[in-house]
Amino acid sequence: MTSWAIAVSGLRKSYGDKSVLDGIDLHIPAGSVFALLGPNGAGKTTVVKILSTLITADGGQAQVAGHDLAADPQAARAAIGVTGQFSAVDGLITGEENMLLMADLHHLPRAEGRRVAAGLLERFDLTDAAHKPAASYSGGMKRRLDIAMTLVGSPRVIFLDEPTTGLDPRSRHTMWQIIRELVTDGATVFLTTQYLEEADELADTIAVLHQGRIAAEGSAEQLKRIVPGGHVRLRFTDPAAYQHAAATLHQAATRDDDALALNLPSDGSQRELRSLLDWLDTTGIDADQLTVHTPDLDDVFFALTSPTDQSSSQPADAPTDDSSKEAAR
Ligand code: ADP
Repeated sequence: MTSWAIAVSGLRKSYGDKSVLDGIDLHIPAGSVFALLGPNGAGKTTVVKILSTLITADGGQAQVAGHDLAADPQAARAAIGVTGQFSAVDGLITGEENMLLMADLHHLPRAEGRRVAAGLLERFDLTDAAHKPAASYSGGMKRRLDIAMTLVGSPRVIFLDEPTTGLDPRSRHTMWQIIRELVTDGATVFLTTQYLEEADELADTIAVLHQGRIAAEGSAEQLKRIVPGGHVRLRFTDPAAYQHAAATLHQAATRDDDALALNLPSDGSQRELRSLLDWLDTTGIDADQLTVHTPDLDDVFFALTSPTDQSSSQPADAPTDDSSKEAAR
């Protein structure tokens, strides 16, 4: 049986007469990274706030670290850590003092608090800066301190709301490394992000939130297969072989005469590739190079969250083959 770090069904939330979450279902296995994507205002922070017990839902059920949020929010709260978009770091005191404050909040005995704080400052490369006021830290250092403070309570489920927004590329990569290590250590990470590259890089599962619902969910690779734009590219070195193939494939392929390449639409699934290769064999086409191109996550995101896209609220209707349906599940 899979152990869910987070299990959510039918989650609803409105502000006044504005419905923000209109029935959200999520099942996130323990020890994985889950990324919630969505345009600004989609409701990502609202989901994080509900799951981290800061606000209550209007309807639906949610369990976090095995605790029902309605029945036992206290137990859920004890098992989680939250790093919001707005840092919990107090700039007027030092990094170390921020850490010790967290240790006090978690009622750690003094000596243990000092030991835990020193260990985390070391792990996040903040030992040298530990005695400087946090206000003097760079954006990346503040974000690292924020996460270090979250870890004082040894949370099993960690919510990171846009953990790298505003960071430079180097700090962003450091943060990615930290997130990977959290999961290696056994935690489950629930992150929201505006950066598709970040979800692609880190997440085992990605869900796209749009118009109050999960428009699609799957691994990055699965999601990329549900939007059109994937193709197989056949490249030739011999112009005569290229011309022969172009004539044979005729309307099935688009030509790139400069590169001696032909592009055939494909979802990249094994089934479709096998039939494509069989077909090429029977037609006597022998390409020098065959590459499979899937759309990137940007394509998926824009396709699913475009205001005019009718398929976005019912993605299972959009795909036309089994592999795509699997991705949309
Ligand atoms: P995201 O994190 O995806 O940008 P949010 O969860 O912050 O989205 O917000 C979702 C929607 O709910 C937005 O339209 C926002 O204006 C609205 N909203 C969020 N918090 C409140 C609130 N406390 N009162 C009224 N509306 C709110």
